[in-house]
Amino acid sequence: MVSNWKIKERTILSIMELSKSAMPNEFSGLLVGDPDSRVINDIYIIPATVNGPASSTIRQDLVPLSFSIVGSVHSHPQQSSLPSSADMRFFQSKYINIISHFPFNKYDFSAYNSKGQNIALEIIP
Ligand SMILES: [Zn+2]
Repeated sequence: MVSNWKIKERTILSIMELSKSAMPNEFSGLLVGDPDSRVINDIYIIPATVNGPASSTIRQDLVPLSFSIVGSVHSHPQQSSLPSSADMRFFQSKYINIISHFPFNKYDFSAYNSKGQNIALEIIP
């Protein structure tokens, strides 16, 4: 049996703070965690990420290989966390992808697998 993905409460709260700070632009980063226990415990922000109101581009050459990158995270400054077609393509190489959405309270997010299907993400202490 495969367990659901979980995220540390402080990590999801950091994501919401970063999402708020980036307004009116998108915030984007990578999710750091353990693919075996399926726990996300940190985020990694790539230095040269270019953020715009409707897109953000990650410089793949600056992604460190030493981190346990399990997925991606980005914010939608609007009240929708539905993935765009560009989001769907980007999701393909990740186990889990989080989209946070305005107004960025603790539960203002959706999580998707590599196929862009909605999956459960539990917040743990
Ligand atoms: Zn998006």
